[in-house]
Amino acid sequence: MKAPKFAYARVLEVDEAIAALAAGAGATKAMSGSQSLGPMLNLRLARPAQVVDVAHIPDLRTVSRKADWIEIGAAVTHAEIEDGVHAPLAEHPMRQVARGIAYRAIRTRGTVGGSLAHADPAADWVVTFAALGARVTVRSPRGERTVEADAFMLGAYTTVLESDELIVSVAVPSQTHTTRWGYHKVCRKPGEFAEASAAVYFDASRKRARIVLGAADGPPLLLHSLAAEIALKGTGAAGREALRAAVQTALPERDAIDRKLFTASLERALDQSGIFADTRQAE
Ligand SMILES: Cc1cc2nc3c(=O)[nH]c(=O)nc-3n(C[C@H](O)[C@H](O)[C@H](O)COP(=O)(O)OP(=O)(O)OC[C@H]3O[C@@H](n4cnc5c(N)ncnc54)[C@H](O)[C@@H]3O)c2cc1C
Repeated sequence: MKAPKFAYARVLEVDEAIAALAAGAGATKAMSGSQSLGPMLNLRLARPAQVVDVAHIPDLRTVSRKADWIEIGAAVTHAEIEDGVHAPLAEHPMRQVARGIAYRAIRTRGTVGGSLAHADPAADWVVTFAALGARVTVRSPRGERTVEADAFMLGAYTTVLESDELIVSVAVPSQTHTTRWGYHKVCRKPGEFAEASAAVYFDASRKRARIVLGAADGPPLLLHSLAAEIALKGTGAAGREALRAAVQTALPERDAIDRKLFTASLERALDQSGIFADTRQAE
């Protein structure tokens, strides 16, 4: 199938994009890498009257360090993060996540903002940003607001974004020497969307401990109690039984095989984080 007819405008200023979205009153859609919107148009699942291409807006293409945070422009691509072309992210664990998203051709076009706005439950950034405690900044004619990444997605393909709001940036915490990070996704072959995923983020100096399950058909699931227990007690709180119980509580409706996939993701993400090596050293 081919996309229905729509007007196309490439803009180079955030204000132009916002004005076009507002004027469109719900019939205008932003487009970044077009890796999700393109297929939606071709399948006629999206039928906007106008598409506003925001991929070349210079203000959405930068990455900057701000105190403890790194602010990533919404139109920064997965490939740029994978390649470490933006200095503040050169040592960041997001590089490892980017490397596992789809295939290189998709990564060269797909963007951080597009991925968040599309809100596929199995998307890698959705779970990563929830685990990092990232903050999403969106702008509209009413001004700017910041939304916690773990509250951004309301359900599958549904977010808190209003039709005239544009994601302008995502702020993630910068690395410290105490940052421990792990991410694992189970997929049928490399480059596929996840069937189950888990991300863990611990930072003792900032007193942050977050564990998140992704690809669970809805928004990322935060396992607050497990994260707090592991931060407090280390290895002892992360036995396979404890992980299994946490997954069972988070996903009671899933069958045993699905829960096993999530438990395995969680176990591998925790292993990867190296938090247990820290605990053992402290013991
Ligand atoms: C074959 C295939 C495999 C894939 N595998 C994976 C995978 O393994 N993991 C993964 O995470 N993703 C995967 N993807 C998705 C890919 O990462 C896309 O890049 C991403 O979902 C959308 O980003 P985009 O920049 O292309 O957005 P677009 O397709 O341009 O837009 C997607 C949606 O976001 C909106 N939007 C775009 N930018 C903004 C903005 N700045 N503000 C507000 N709304 C905006 C659009 O209106 C649209 O609704 C895959 C895609 C394909 C086609």
